[in-house]
Amino acid sequence: MLYTPKYIRNNDLDKKICNCTECKKYRILYCHTNMVENKQAEKREIESDVIATCSKCKRMYRFGLKYTSINKKDTYEVGKVNEIKENYNDVRENIEKNYNSFDSEYTVKSENFLTKVIKEEKDDNSVVSEYVFMEK
Ligand SMILES: [Zn+2]
Repeated sequence: MLYTPKYIRNNDLDKKICNCTECKKYRILYCHTNMVENKQAEKREIESDVIATCSKCKRMYRFGLKYTSINKKDTYEVGKVNEIKENYNDVRENIEKNYNSFDSEYTVKSENFLTKVIKEEKDDNSVVSEYVFMEK
């Protein structure tokens, strides 16, 4: 199953991304993900390049995120964070350009996102996949 959260919550993260006082969560605008899932071990490792906006102050950030879930225990590690200074429309345009630049094995439309699976390898026990998703 593809992991495409609409929000990332500050409380889950090992460090804050936005420093505004009221920041609680980030809305994901774009995410490029590499995922390794091992069903038997109930283990999932996800490394993502994320563009998200603080739901309070609307500042936008690009950051790396490593998400690990082992036996339903989740950890989120934030990598390098860059604030994006361009305006929303320019960012949105760049996101679409990026998204469109990938070749896909197949695409998925959900309520919130367009998702493009770039690569997917499955066997009985594991799934390795690379995918991008962007807010509709
Ligand atoms: Zn903020």
